[in-house]
Amino acid sequence: MPEQIVIVGAGQGGFQAAASLRQNDSNARITLIGEEPGLPYQRPPLSKSFMKDGDPARLLLRPKTFFEKNQINLVEKSRVSFIDRAIKEVETKSGLRFPYDHLILATGARNTKPPIRNVEAHGLHDLRTLADATAMRSAVGSARHAVVIGGGFIGLEFAAQARAAGIEVTVVEMAPRLMARVVSPGISHLFADMHLAMGTQLVFGQPAVEILSTNNGVASGVLLADGTELEGDMVLLASGVQPNTGLAAAAGLEIDNGIVVDHMLQTADPAIFALGDCAAFPEFCSGKRIRLESVQAATDQARAIARNLTGNPAAYDAIAWFWSDQADWKLQIAGLPKENGETHLIRRNHNTATALWFSDGILTCAETVNAAGEHMAARRLLASGLPVTRSDLEMHEYRLTDYLNSTLKAP
Ligand SMILES: Cc1cc2nc3c(=O)[nH]c(=O)nc-3n(C[C@H](O)[C@H](O)[C@H](O)COP(=O)(O)OP(=O)(O)OC[C@H]3O[C@@H](n4cnc5c(N)ncnc54)[C@H](O)[C@@H]3O)c2cc1C
Repeated sequence: MPEQIVIVGAGQGGFQAAASLRQNDSNARITLIGEEPGLPYQRPPLSKSFMKDGDPARLLLRPKTFFEKNQINLVEKSRVSFIDRAIKEVETKSGLRFPYDHLILATGARNTKPPIRNVEAHGLHDLRTLADATAMRSAVGSARHAVVIGGGFIGLEFAAQARAAGIEVTVVEMAPRLMARVVSPGISHLFADMHLAMGTQLVFGQPAVEILSTNNGVASGVLLADGTELEGDMVLLASGVQPNTGLAAAAGLEIDNGIVVDHMLQTADPAIFALGDCAAFPEFCSGKRIRLESVQAATDQARAIARNLTGNPAAYDAIAWFWSDQADWKLQIAGLPKENGETHLIRRNHNTATALWFSDGILTCAETVNAAGEHMAARRLLASGLPVTRSDLEMHEYRLTDYLNSTLKAP
């Protein structure tokens, strides 16, 4: 009897797990269950190209024929509401039951609703799904002033798109700088200058405390902690996400800012794995438990689980990398900074820069702006496992490609 593998969550990671399992093992019976309607799609373009072209077909990870040809049973519009670990079965809200030998949890994350008064106001946007992005596109068409709560990747990507479309934009960020959770101060400041040059207004250090609304209850602006009222006929809440762990928690699995897995991405129940935005795993260098919200983590973890389930086990040890496109600036990040690391910013010209993170003089992370070659070199250097020292790089004027080429040439 072929093995039955059930995947909960038909997003980026769930889709990749199904595709890689089929590629590695033609016999398994694979069921991919997702609560959203339609075929699995990519989220990154939702805040980027989709805002311009509005074409949902371009988001699809694969056409319908792929699932038929590869015998992947895609069950859409079905929310899994219960895992019965004793008999190894999941149940959907509508009462469908699916037995499994192995279960992969790829439930992703949802947008947080911070403690802001009137956060349920009608017309307040947040951006996670194709449905959210479609609603935002239609609002952008008639908006004059957008207020964005949150100066992270998604808020800023949208801000750049809206500004390019001629809309007045104000971004409210509680922290003293943009993208503070993910990039070094130098890169934050370069991006702030770029957004200011586009005409976007940036407000720092002030939390939003209330969503203002019209007499009809429609969101019409934001009240800040210092009493400032920002009027906007479009308001986007982009203040971060939290992992979807409720299903796993109810099944008695350990949760610690994500579904806890080991270096093989396996939970304490050997039949259950977790990946992507919902999984908390031990980072391979430090052993520290972390959770990443990126396409690369979701897809690499999916491939690793597929290998583990098809007789080719290996620990998950990929180098983390991310990107964000804001106007014509591409930010790419390879590796992760360590606590108490130091940064060195190298600005090559007005829109090209690299910030390098060092810990005890060893390179741990590279943030690049419009420097794809440097980003790729950073990924190769970090993946090599060889210590790259600050003085090595200094001798090459902090050009990672030059340093990489010189080490490749070395006897
Ligand atoms: C607007 C936007 C822009 C982004 N841009 C970038 C970017 O530029 N670069 C980058 O690396 N990352 C980006 N990301 C993040 C990236 O999309 C996610 O990290 C990635 O999708 C994670 O994959 P996942 O499979 O873990 O979760 P998801 O792709 O979110 O999939 C999870 C799926 O599980 C479903 N689900 C949840 N619970 C259940 C249940 N109980 N039953 C059935 N189904 C369930 C959800 O509905 C969802 O469809 C962006 C995200 C957004 C929203």
